Amino acid sequence: MTELTFPFDLILRGGTVIDGTGAPARRADVGIVGDKVAAIGDLTSAQAARVIDATHRYITPGFIDVHTHTDETIFINPKMESKIHQGVTTEVSGNCGYSAAPVHGAARDDLLHDLDQYKNITLDWQSMGEYLARIEKMGISTNYVTLVGQGTLRASVMGYAMREPTPDELATMKNLLAQAIDEGAWGLSTGLIYPPSSYASMDELVALSRVAAERGGIYTSHIRNEGDRLLESVEEALTIGERAGIRVQLSHHKAAGKRNWGKVHESLARIEQARERGIHACADQYPYVASSTGLGTVIPDWAHEGGWQKLVERLGDVTTRERIAEDVRTARPGWENPAVDSGWHNIVIVGCKSDRSLQGKTAWDIAQMQGKDVVQATFDLLIANEGSVQVVIFSMSEDDVKTVVSVPWVSVGSDSTARAPQGPMSNVQCHPRTYGTFPRLLSKYVREDKVLTWETAIAKMTSAPAQMFGLNRRGELREGYFADMVVFDPERIADTATFTEPHQFPIGFDYVLVNGTPTIEFGKHTEARAGKVLRK
Ligand SMILES: [Zn+2]
Repeated sequence: MTELTFPFDLILRGGTVIDGTGAPARRADVGIVGDKVAAIGDLTSAQAARVIDATHRYITPGFIDVHTHTDETIFINPKMESKIHQGVTTEVSGNCGYSAAPVHGAARDDLLHDLDQYKNITLDWQSMGEYLARIEKMGISTNYVTLVGQGTLRASVMGYAMREPTPDELATMKNLLAQAIDEGAWGLSTGLIYPPSSYASMDELVALSRVAAERGGIYTSHIRNEGDRLLESVEEALTIGERAGIRVQLSHHKAAGKRNWGKVHESLARIEQARERGIHACADQYPYVASSTGLGTVIPDWAHEGGWQKLVERLGDVTTRERIAEDVRTARPGWENPAVDSGWHNIVIVGCKSDRSLQGKTAWDIAQMQGKDVVQATFDLLIANEGSVQVVIFSMSEDDVKTVVSVPWVSVGSDSTARAPQGPMSNVQCHPRTYGTFPRLLSKYVREDKVLTWETAIAKMTSAPAQMFGLNRRGELREGYFADMVVFDPERIADTATFTEPHQFPIGFDYVLVNGTPTIEFGKHTEARAGKVLRK
């Protein structure tokens, strides 16, 4: 090791560096100047304005939360508390076909309706450029990357129409996408179980993906079916990658529904084979056996046509309601229906503004309590909440979760929003992944179950997503790279958020630095807002 005496702004001394590349852990000091790492080595005699003692601690690059939905809550919680407390220094939002920009027409109406629940957020943007500028002006505590939701594009141009776009409509969507990427977005996302994203054919998705590919963007996908048709849906995403010549990120990889457990071996093998043929494909995952989504996913997509107002209208009409009920009970082939795949007793209501006392209960229990048929009880809940009820679904097997965790090219995404235990969203339950994704992967799957080494796990959280997205000088601890860093106690780090008490910060994190600025110190937020909006 070379001895350096350069004057640093900050030195972390005495720690064990895991640099994010997968290279073995080594004992080293890290010196920071401004927002960059200036030296890694023996800095015993170096001068610094501030020294942090990192003895018995691991020093790693900041974690990259590769799949999030912070699009709106960023304005509620710019301190990004649930993220920064788990070591996340960069997050990728705009996933599952939904982004907060660009918004026109029905997409704008939807966003206004959504923002209404938080109060005090004025919708004063339309374009991606305006949205990102607003975030920049406000200041945030992590770095922020966003994609363009294909459902948002469709809603902007053709509302919730369940049909092919006209050539003009397709051209408008392509233009909006191109403009949004030129203004800083990193690619296109789809959510092919969610209308109107789900109304798109593969050809439409290829046409849009080509626009993103021309600009060096990525395609991320919540695939069309994660249950009975998991393999076909993985193939669809890989084919889009091949036809459009675009990098493909398969979101929150899993096999949903008991009869599909074990299929991840085959799905991962298919992705691996595609990688070998030269398709640049990866996946991500949150380390839990339950997913979280909207209760509206139990409703067939035709009943969503026209948007939530139309859905509520259909559920209120006796004849149409019966037709929908028939579909929900029988599950048409090819349609992923969590009520059938996982069962009503595995669907837990977590966000229900019409009656908060129902939060934490299963759909099955609520129906029993109300003396109703479960399908009818579900419809009534959707009507009372304008189609928007958040649920947690216990749909996966622990074996599958472990299998996916063990793959080095599967990065880590919380699939959640930035929020805090206090404030406007504290009365809404959430999935524990919101607060616990990263520490859980390290404490359970590395320290306890030994599915992975620390070095591989850290690489999955840092360099893997940074390379996939092309994030400049992030994801590794290296001289000249941005000083996004985490200092934690490997013996103590753990998630504490549970399904019944999700609003809890993890433990074991001493420091989290964003662009060289300590943002967590001894487990507490410093109020720093050193995050940057990262533009493509
Ligand atoms: Zn999703």
